[in-house]
Amino acid sequence: MSVIVLATHNRDKVKEIAHALNQLSNIQIYSLDDLPDLPEVIEDAPTLEGNALKKAREIYRYAQAKFEHVLVLADDTGLEVDALNGAPGVYSARYAESELGRKPTYSENVEKLLRDLSGKANRAARFRTVIALVGTWNGSFLEKTVEGVAEGEILTEPCGTGGFGYDPVFFSTDAQKTFAELSLDEKNALSHRGRALRAVSDLLTKA
Ligand code: IMP
Repeated sequence: MSVIVLATHNRDKVKEIAHALNQLSNIQIYSLDDLPDLPEVIEDAPTLEGNALKKAREIYRYAQAKFEHVLVLADDTGLEVDALNGAPGVYSARYAESELGRKPTYSENVEKLLRDLSGKANRAARFRTVIALVGTWNGSFLEKTVEGVAEGEILTEPCGTGGFGYDPVFFSTDAQKTFAELSLDEKNALSHRGRALRAVSDLLTKA
């Protein structure tokens, strides 16, 4: 039996990741809710890779006290817009924070994005998810990152009611619709996170 700890409290993410890893046999999945007294990991690295690795390494140190052999998975996601030199990127969750002086809502971040892009012809963008894996897998120590990318364009106004975050303004090149117009299964099939999770599943199947 291999133990995998997901570095999140988000139940939707836990469900999504557990589903993506369902081809792996003999695994037991836990989340941060199962690790008491865990200190908060400050996501202050300048890159998605740096944040994901920082989270996975720090949580691995705590997870080892509870499980003898454990692998920790930690993810970080950002929206990279070409005309904004890759912003909001690693700051996607906090994009409008400096203007508002508090944590922004999803729609406040979207409004700032549309303002910053107004009048710009180049609307190309991509979501990037990096997943770090740190810990023991099949008897060997593993420290790796994998990524998943979804290409698209930022519309001039929101379209669709599904999803979250920047989904209503992200027009997917693969789907030819916004992510907010897709069902959850459709989004998972071609999203950045879905692709990164399949890369994790492939890596662990082969390792
Ligand atoms: P996290 O690393 O998964 O917490 O994502 C950071 C931020 O990126 C979120 O707060 C959202 O603003 C944005 N984001 C992440 N994934 C998605 C997505 O699938 N659709 C739209 N926005 C997303």
